Amino acid sequence: MIEIHQFPCLSDNYGYLLHDPVSGETACIDTPDAEEYLRQAAAKGWQITQIWNTHWHPDHAGGNAAIKAVTGCTIIGPAEVEKLGTAPDRVVSQGDQVKLGEWDAAVIDVGGHTSGHIAYYLADAAVAFVGDSVFALGCGRMFEGTPDQFWASLGRIKALPPATLLYCAHEYTQSNARFALHADPENADLAAYAQQVAAARADGRATVPTPLARELATNPFLRADDPAIQSRWGGGDPVATFAALRAAKDNF
Ligand SMILES: [Zn+2]
Repeated sequence: MIEIHQFPCLSDNYGYLLHDPVSGETACIDTPDAEEYLRQAAAKGWQITQIWNTHWHPDHAGGNAAIKAVTGCTIIGPAEVEKLGTAPDRVVSQGDQVKLGEWDAAVIDVGGHTSGHIAYYLADAAVAFVGDSVFALGCGRMFEGTPDQFWASLGRIKALPPATLLYCAHEYTQSNARFALHADPENADLAAYAQQVAAARADGRATVPTPLARELATNPFLRADDPAIQSRWGGGDPVATFAALRAAKDNF
């Protein structure tokens, strides 16, 4: 089975190392902190052979050059990563496949937080690395994209099998829960989930990854097509509802 090693990085990022024990290959999912990634890989006895970037922000791709200098790994990512000074060795976009040993990951366009944001979906492992597109109970701030684009991106996440585990890039769940309860106050599943999140954070436990099925029931941004959400936000149109939610969260 493929191994996923998760560790905190910077103030609230999660680092992920993806390891295939058969081929010995290891991929960094984003590179918030090169030293921490190198330390974690060494502690595992894993050789970093690839970097898979989700988007260009420095807390996602800022460690690329330092990790490549030490390991000689191949950098795979969206073209926008070039904004940080170096283009990926392999530029990928929607519909491409990347490989770690015999494991395939499908590249999914999840633009909206940044225009070129992508996610990596490993169907055989039922996991997706979604960067800053979707968070537990939230979604990324819309820095570059449009509501139309972001809602279409979320539609591609929503279409994955509900058992898929979403590996988001930040521990934002508790503050997201406060807005979600404001946006959708009568959702009993959300109220129960918010209580679990508060208990987990009080114990210092991670709330990521999160199963897609739970987010489909509780994450207001994924539910902009739900009549209960639409009755409070943006009327009958999912794009307008998503836009209203995103704007409200920005000022919450
Ligand atoms: Zn970002």
